[in-house]
Amino acid sequence: MDKFDKSIYEDFVKENYGSWEEFKQYCVELPKIEFHAHLNGSITPKTMNELIEQRKGKEPDLAGFAVKKLIQPNFQLEDFFPLFNTVYRLTDNTESIEYITRNVLKEFAADGVCYIELRSTPRQNLEKGMKKKNYAETLISVINEINKKNDIIVRLILSIDRKASLEEAMETVNLAIELKSTGIVVGVDMCGNTNGGEFLRIKPAFHYAKKNNLSVTLHVAEIPNCREDNLNMIEVSPNRMGHCTFLEDDLLKWAKDNNVAIETCITSNIICRTVKSYDVHPCIEYMKNDQPFTICTDDKGIFNCDLSDEYLIFGLINKLNKKQLFEVSKRAISYVMDNDIKLKKQLETIYNNFSKKNGFLIEK
Ligand SMILES: [Zn+2]
Repeated sequence: MDKFDKSIYEDFVKENYGSWEEFKQYCVELPKIEFHAHLNGSITPKTMNELIEQRKGKEPDLAGFAVKKLIQPNFQLEDFFPLFNTVYRLTDNTESIEYITRNVLKEFAADGVCYIELRSTPRQNLEKGMKKKNYAETLISVINEINKKNDIIVRLILSIDRKASLEEAMETVNLAIELKSTGIVVGVDMCGNTNGGEFLRIKPAFHYAKKNNLSVTLHVAEIPNCREDNLNMIEVSPNRMGHCTFLEDDLLKWAKDNNVAIETCITSNIICRTVKSYDVHPCIEYMKNDQPFTICTDDKGIFNCDLSDEYLIFGLINKLNKKQLFEVSKRAISYVMDNDIKLKKQLETIYNNFSKKNGFLIEK
């Protein structure tokens, strides 16, 4: 939030929210739905350091992984690479994954997130007795424990790395099909480095997922000039699409016509330099064109942002008042992957209570 010129927004903030502090407070209290949060990227440096402290007695090499300084406001993408190594090292056994998942979900709840579809790529580490299924089951058990507390409602999306073989992708889809009966796993995702190869190779796995009633979200058009990949992805009819910063107009139209929401991750796009600055972020066009979209964090731990920050930035660059920002947030209910009617009613009640408390008129 310190990354752009606040002075030009002073009058707008004063008029609509009172002060910057009140604006942030409003964005925290606003019920929010998070659809695009990678577990590993959501771990804060604080949690990483706590885990290192807990484990370094038995694993002295871990001391070298300590995250020495908190992320600075003027960070660059290159500053994060050591963090990725730390995260990879720390997520190599089920006990650490439990600790991480619990912390990440508590942080989302404290930030006013009422519903989250967390995503994670099942990882295997046979040396420590962890199979992909154990990994997913560990997440599900923590999610069940958190759901019982009624602070936040959590569902899980299993991710498939773009560089996976078709066989590996099918293995994850089969795992998701098997675990769907828990009521926690709702869909599959394709993520990972955009250099990881053509989507075409693993496309059949996503057709298979849809055939088996799993929802699908894909990281789409994160880089320019990937038309063929984009077309192949659209052919799968994803339920939602991540980023889409370089999606062509005809495919944006397809998404609008089919009510497929774009999971927009503003801060992530700025730090990864796929968008030049906040004031030219494509979400401004989405607002103007009534494009279906939702606001998400992507990797809140790595990028040092919360969903409330993203709403604040979104409200600012689109000059939205309290009620307009509330309406953007509420619209996300229609893009939830879990089709349970009771769940949607529950979410509507949360939003309606907030609306009443703030004196917003309910539009018929
Ligand atoms: Zn992502």
